[in-house]
Amino acid sequence: MPGVTIDKNHCKGCELCVKACPQQVLSMSTDITVRGYFYAQMHDPSRCIGCTICALTCPDAAIEVHTNGTSYVLFQY
Ligand code: SF4
Ligand code: SF4
Repeated sequence: MPGVTIDKNHCKGCELCVKACPQQVLSMSTDITVRGYFYAQMHDPSRCIGCTICALTCPDAAIEVHTNGTSYVLFQY
């Protein structure tokens, strides 16, 4: 099953991934990171289709998509 890992400490809370997800499975947290940002998280993992749009949209490369045994990472810190 496809899945997404979000590195919340690299997330700046811009919400671009939340708006871009065609399955609307991402949402913003209610708590904040050590940098003081709300961060993106999955609220319904079962609906993720592994399309990678969220990872492509994230300006901070904080999202990693796993699908069919392949991990898509746009940038490694
Ligand atoms: S991989 Fe696609 S469906 Fe899954 S969270 Fe990202 S944008 Fe949404
Ligand atoms: S697009 Fe990236 S930086 Fe913006 S809320 Fe999503 S994970 Fe965080």
